[in-house]
Amino acid sequence: MEQQRKYPKFDGFYSIIKAEEDYSKNYNRISNYLKNFDLSNVEKKDRNVLVEIKKSFPPIMSRDSEFKLTKISNAELNQIPDDKLFVYLIHRYKYEIYPKKKILDEYPPYLQIEPTSICNFRCTFCYQKNKEFHSKSKGHMGHMDLDLFKRVVDLAENKVQMISIASRGEPTLYKNFVEMLDYCSNKFLVLKINTNASLLTEKKIHAILRNGVSTIVFSADAADAELYKKLRINGDLKKVKKNIELFHKIKNSDYKSSNIITRVSGVKVNEDQNSLDMEKMWGDLVDQVAFVNYVPTENVYEMDENSITDPCSDLWRRMFIWWDGKVNPCEIDFFSKLEVGNVRNKSLSEVWNSELYKKYRKKHINNERVKIKPCNRCQVT
Ligand code: SF4
Repeated sequence: MEQQRKYPKFDGFYSIIKAEEDYSKNYNRISNYLKNFDLSNVEKKDRNVLVEIKKSFPPIMSRDSEFKLTKISNAELNQIPDDKLFVYLIHRYKYEIYPKKKILDEYPPYLQIEPTSICNFRCTFCYQKNKEFHSKSKGHMGHMDLDLFKRVVDLAENKVQMISIASRGEPTLYKNFVEMLDYCSNKFLVLKINTNASLLTEKKIHAILRNGVSTIVFSADAADAELYKKLRINGDLKKVKKNIELFHKIKNSDYKSSNIITRVSGVKVNEDQNSLDMEKMWGDLVDQVAFVNYVPTENVYEMDENSITDPCSDLWRRMFIWWDGKVNPCEIDFFSKLEVGNVRNKSLSEVWNSELYKKYRKKHINNERVKIKPCNRCQVT
């Protein structure tokens, strides 16, 4: 019984630099909004959440508050118009607080959609380097059918406010990348894309910028080409930088009013990675430069069993839809041993509230995650 280290999933950032530090504008905005908001005009289910938000949101920034602004939510709030403020607050409360209180809603607060499981990189810290994952006979590799993608978007629209187009593969490799984004256009309050930026083209950049993507995360872990290459196998830092420069140029010339948040984000795996070097390299090109904490994900199935009993918060936070419609509670289980259903024949709500999903949550709450594979080897809480 080793590996007792835990990796809390909420706020997985090791550092974020360049993001605005002054939260006062949005604190005042929310406080005034909550003070003057007429609850009688709101549906009962939303009213109850707003009452909780009113109780827990501090009039000024406070470290001890249960529900408070973060660098991420502060930046996102600058994109949210006043008439959507209450929808955003409800979403953010469900995203942050429901996993802590183990409250189960009708829909997941956050949905990740994987248009493809294929990736052109084999990063040292990623399950993409697992040979079995790529074995044709195992059937893990593929692209999502565009009609299935549209079905998932239709099922999620007005129900789930936050979508990430990302999971096990590289989204820009998806053969229907442009059509996919055109279909999502302005349908979600928060729409994110993660990319390694190696395959960005003008056409793909225009699709991202014209369709109201709210955050784009460019994954890059080092400012030094050699170190980058060691971590991002098959990657070329020069090429990635050129593509991010192209994105920056197109955004500033053709989409002057775009309020997309751009972030370069690396996985903090070793001491040689340096935040200041990263800021020097990317600071003029993006809004935020970050490192996320490394979580051992490359092969959970071969890790030692541990005796962690804290529930995994992701079971109440997000749900993953994979290219073949399979639904999984997380991507650490990249072989989908925990599969909870398939959106080809079920609605999002049916899967999120399925008996199997509830059984996993119950075991986690009862300190019995050791009885579930691979949760018994995973360190996420
Ligand atoms: S394997 Fe289990 S504990 Fe780990 S992230 Fe997935 S659901 Fe959570």
